[in-house]
Amino acid sequence: SPRVGVLALQGDVREHLAALTAAGASATTVRRAEELTGLDGIVLPGGESTTMSRLLGVLDLFDPLRDALTEGLPAYGSCAGMILLASDILDTRPDARHLDALDITVRRNAFGRQVESFETDLRVDGITDTGDDRGPMRAVFIRAPWVEKVGTEVEVLATVPDGPAAGRVVAVRQRSVLATSFHPEVTGDRRVHRHFVRMIGG
Ligand code: GLN
Repeated sequence: SPRVGVLALQGDVREHLAALTAAGASATTVRRAEELTGLDGIVLPGGESTTMSRLLGVLDLFDPLRDALTEGLPAYGSCAGMILLASDILDTRPDARHLDALDITVRRNAFGRQVESFETDLRVDGITDTGDDRGPMRAVFIRAPWVEKVGTEVEVLATVPDGPAAGRVVAVRQRSVLATSFHPEVTGDRRVHRHFVRMIGG
């Protein structure tokens, strides 16, 4: 089974480890650069992107991780993880760094105060429309970003179906990099993690 690391500096690490294990991967935590060796993929969890960015710097992990991504290490980022993978971030702190692995512009905390956290049923291309368990997935958004601009290589996989944020892009893929604004790791629906594990050859 593919070896998938979960960046374990902050955020909902345990939920991703459990989801990956259930999806058939061999999941391990990553806190040091050496732990990137031999991985088939890496997950950047939900949490606080500015804190994770700072800790990546403090632990000398920022450059090794960025280099691994540049060399093609497949990645999946949920929420804060999506922000870290982006090439451009709106509404972040001036000192926050990002890994530039996904050609998208994201806006942090984009859904505003009234709808800071919400759930909705979501269709995700290639994930909720195939297999025996097809059908929309419950998507949990917690102070989530949305994607405001995508590069030509980026596939849009999901948009918010209705409400004030209707049409906003909340799941994308660019080759072997996948990202969602929401948190499939907290719902027990393993389809996004299974999709990622299959993407990387599991
Ligand atoms: N608002 C957080 C950030 O900017 C992301 C929230 C989350 O991951 N649930 O990093």
